[in-house]
Amino acid sequence: MKAIRVGQHGGPEVMRLEDLPDPRPGAGQVVVRVKAVGVNRVDTYVRAGAYPRLPDLPYTPGIDAAGVVEAVGAGVTRVRTGQRVYVAGSFGGTYAELALCAEAQAHPLPERLSFSQGAAVPVPYATAYRALFQRAVARAGETVLVHGASGGVGTAALQIARAAGLTVIGTAGSDKGRDLARREGAHQVLDHRAPGYLDQIGALTGGRGADVILEMLANVNLARDLKVLAPGGRVVVIGSRGTVEIDPRDTMGRDASILGMSLPNATAGEAASIHAALGAGLENGTLRPVVGRELPMMDAARAHALVLEPGSYGKIVLIP
Ligand code: NAP
Repeated sequence: MKAIRVGQHGGPEVMRLEDLPDPRPGAGQVVVRVKAVGVNRVDTYVRAGAYPRLPDLPYTPGIDAAGVVEAVGAGVTRVRTGQRVYVAGSFGGTYAELALCAEAQAHPLPERLSFSQGAAVPVPYATAYRALFQRAVARAGETVLVHGASGGVGTAALQIARAAGLTVIGTAGSDKGRDLARREGAHQVLDHRAPGYLDQIGALTGGRGADVILEMLANVNLARDLKVLAPGGRVVVIGSRGTVEIDPRDTMGRDASILGMSLPNATAGEAASIHAALGAGLENGTLRPVVGRELPMMDAARAHALVLEPGSYGKIVLIP
């Protein structure tokens, strides 16, 4: 099979298309013929060697994919050969024509969704779901501020929160991103590049503040987030690219919480619960992954440059 390989950490150019032996499934394993690969920011951090958990070199990048089950190993019961699935993690990477994964990492992909949409599901939707419900324990009737709503995690969070009965405020840095946020579930949309934009949270929440904030850029926003939280409010730190100074008093008066969150910390039970919920949402149409761009897999280097650019709009997907 063809696969993208990284022989040394560095810029996007270190990714090369190579021939590798086809994987064979062992007991409890599944081989998926990959039709689309979801590109995540974390793929670029790992490639650059700037991530706490790094694979041994050389390696094949990628966590997310969607495709058709090509072969199953002994004892596999959850999926069958020929079934459409999305893949949330694998043993050897997903930037490849074939992905080898554990049975528990392959999840049914309803017919209504394209493979590219399926590849947009795993990391973004699982992150949004875990942040909202496993960390912030968000409840119907609460207000959530999705701080960075135009990207993969943000649009997923808008759809999930809206379907769960929350009032949703989303931010984006471009007109296109704000239109997307509005379309994907935000009741109200703000421009995170406009000075003083968070001053509007008071008026939008009847003076109460946001019960939950999903934060994509905590090093820039955390100090101001704490000032627009409702009593008992929770900020979930999903993304951050540096340090930040906060006033701890902003948490005291509100009994507020700052919650860290990392998707790989989800236990097997939590992951199963996340994907059961996502499966239901994909099936009933409340979750509709937005694909911004499809590129051939040989353009992986270009995809890694594009995924870091501002002005997010939907998911970047590679086609093997
Ligand atoms: P993405 O698709 O590239 O989107 C990035 C988002 O951040 C866009 O909505 C962007 O908005 C927004 N943004 C830019 N400047 C901002 C600002 N000043 N304030 C608020 N938002 C701002 O990335 P993603 O896949 O959604 O991931 C979002 C973040 O979560 C990344 O940092 C990623 O590494 C992290 N992440 C963490 C986990 C975890 O387990 N903790 C899992 C997945 C992702 P505009 O482009 O419209 O300005």
